[in-house]
Amino acid sequence: MDRTADWHTHSCLTDGADEPERMARAAAASRLTTWGLSDHVRSDSTWVPGYIQRVRQLHAEDLIIRCGVEAKILDVRGRLDLPNGLTGLDYVLIADHQFPGATGPISPYEIKVGLASGELEASAVIEQLVDATLAAAMACPFPPILAHLFSVLPKCGLSEDEVGADTLTRLATESHGIGVRVEVNEKWRCPSPRVLRRLVEAEVELTAGSDAHRYQDIGMHDYLDEVLMLGQEV
Ligand SMILES: [Zn+2]
Ligand SMILES: [Zn+2]
Repeated sequence: MDRTADWHTHSCLTDGADEPERMARAAAASRLTTWGLSDHVRSDSTWVPGYIQRVRQLHAEDLIIRCGVEAKILDVRGRLDLPNGLTGLDYVLIADHQFPGATGPISPYEIKVGLASGELEASAVIEQLVDATLAAAMACPFPPILAHLFSVLPKCGLSEDEVGADTLTRLATESHGIGVRVEVNEKWRCPSPRVLRRLVEAEVELTAGSDAHRYQDIGMHDYLDEVLMLGQEV
């Protein structure tokens, strides 16, 4: 994988601190060769065409600049919180910010309560999340990247270790088949080395994402370095 890329960063156009122009300068001054801006969108975000235009105007020497967005998975059918009719995006980060329910997003806390009461079963919850993630990747109108895969599990009171071997194999094989890339996320320190190993075995392409919300953090890949030190081939 390319350690000199950072596909996951946020500007002050959403919840980041800095202007895209400031971020482009920081990315150019770092060791990065590819930098992607990936601000948060919702289906009712009307500013995306202007955002794309602004990113397209950014130029920095020896730096490839990519324009993406981050959108959450809404439901188990893989519907994304993305405006209709967009054109011109290089990629979409597919995010598990909420738990994808049958008809819409459910707060992870609600899932946690359901698991604690015995109303929900961990394996079924994980299967549903994987189904939704794969469906979202398949239906995505732009090249998809799975952002901070499984970051919602700890919020539901679950761990990536509870993702069964068969489920993991299905996720890895189907991800490879769809051609979806999977991010190694700095902020959430996920996916786990075990999950990454399985993805690599299935020849899923990995990308690096800092999830930086200020220019100083662009290109930070400490978690990725730790994974590499564990002998993980990524
Ligand atoms: Zn996110
Ligand atoms: Zn993000």
